[in-house]
Amino acid sequence: MTDFLFHHGTRETLKRHADEGYAVVVPLAATEQHGPNLPVFTDSLIGEHLAFEACKQAATSTKLLLAPTLVVGCSQHHLAFGGTLSFTSSTYLLMLKEIGESLVSGGFRKIIFLNAHGGNEPMMHQAAQDLAVQHDIWTASASYWSLSRSALTELHAQEMGMVPGHAGGFETSLIASLTPDLIRNESIDRPAHSQRSWINAGPPGSFVGKHSYLTGVDGYTDSAHQADAAKGAMYMQAIIESTAQWLVQVGNWMNEGVELAP
Ligand SMILES: [Zn+2]
Repeated sequence: MTDFLFHHGTRETLKRHADEGYAVVVPLAATEQHGPNLPVFTDSLIGEHLAFEACKQAATSTKLLLAPTLVVGCSQHHLAFGGTLSFTSSTYLLMLKEIGESLVSGGFRKIIFLNAHGGNEPMMHQAAQDLAVQHDIWTASASYWSLSRSALTELHAQEMGMVPGHAGGFETSLIASLTPDLIRNESIDRPAHSQRSWINAGPPGSFVGKHSYLTGVDGYTDSAHQADAAKGAMYMQAIIESTAQWLVQVGNWMNEGVELAP
């Protein structure tokens, strides 16, 4: 059953879905260096899989369509390593707004951005806000790690390293569960628990950064030493379920004004 896929529709079916009040989920991902061990498509593989599975689940109880994944994001902080395709933050913001406006032109009034790459997050929220200011529509936006934080904590995902981190134990476990052939195991020879300096986090809502420190020391945040496919599959299932629940909640809010859980 793939009739929830926007891109499998025709202009006629999509027009009808727009008139029927369907929400459109737009998945955001990236193509960027992921250390020596993971493919540059890591965030896109993760984002596309979770968006497909979560939307398939949520579409049984709320009216939604899943748009194609935007596989190039804002990854300027990874360019110096190579293996990276990126928009600048201002281009990315504009692009998200114009994709939202394309949907508005097509008659859709409910837009949800679902993100799988940290560098996209500020522009995603801004685009969702700008679209709802400029048009009489509903918008929502979230990154998968925010939606699944408590479920992943219950599974002790942090034992892998940073969650989600970058190209460390957590992401490597997810890729091990999805496309193990794409992992360069011979490149994982780093000691376990070698947490790299990422962004010195500070209090929630603050930002502190230093030139060249936004990618971890070597373009990854922590060792992938302990990565485990079975645990990765468990984390992915938790992410899919948390995301599906949020999509249903947001769908109910957009359709009936039902309060969102905090
Ligand atoms: Zn990643």
